[in-house]
Amino acid sequence: MRKKIVAGNWKMNKTYEEAIQLINDLNAGLNNLSHSTDEIIICPPALYLHEAATLTRDTAKVFTASQNCHTNESGAYTGEISVKMIKSVGATYSILGHSERRMYNHESDEMLRDKVNIALANNLKVIFCCGESLEIRSKNEYINFVKSQLENSLFHLSKEQFSSIVIAYEPIWAIGTGVTASKEQAQEMHYEIRYFIAAKYGSEVAEATSILYGGSCNPKNAKELFEQADVDGGLIGGASLVAADFISIIQSF
Ligand code: PEP
Repeated sequence: MRKKIVAGNWKMNKTYEEAIQLINDLNAGLNNLSHSTDEIIICPPALYLHEAATLTRDTAKVFTASQNCHTNESGAYTGEISVKMIKSVGATYSILGHSERRMYNHESDEMLRDKVNIALANNLKVIFCCGESLEIRSKNEYINFVKSQLENSLFHLSKEQFSSIVIAYEPIWAIGTGVTASKEQAQEMHYEIRYFIAAKYGSEVAEATSILYGGSCNPKNAKELFEQADVDGGLIGGASLVAADFISIIQSF
């Protein structure tokens, strides 16, 4: 049975005090809650990763993730963060391939392939983001586009390596816009992604891979999205910045 996962991508938000407050609020809320989510992943700015990992250590089912990593393990790369550093502060995952990094930091499929490789080589699991622009969707090329993102950055992995991958389907037109993919649009793409994985790695691997939806997911629409057969949870941006909203999404399964 694949895992039900809710991950919160804080992006470049929160001062130190605000971040600690949010972590404390999440701890307090989650410690008093029964829910059926298998993993809750908090993805704060890298500056706060150590504290997030430490403060949530005793909160059941909570893990932490970086929002990026570098392609090299160490060296003269001013301002960058390596997988070894991320692991050393207690994180379990790294988000890779977020559309904002693809766009603003010019991260190509090939660069992401290198990042995936170095993360897995250092036992850091990966939340791999994929998703099309509105232009690609309007040309009806979205399924092939997402397929090529997976093929170019992930499908060189072995079956065993692929078991450390969580996919996040995040249509760019839905991220931060308030326009959520309909449950039918989300299910269609998640089904196709699972189909691609099955064609490459077999149905056992495909059935075991968690595929999250991301893009203006909130406490109001999470339930109907999570009810879809191939939607195994969400990667949440804006709504992860408010503890009550994030917790409400966690309760949506
Ligand atoms: C995201 O950036 O990963 C995301 C899903 O953002 P939002 O929920 O704000 O659309």
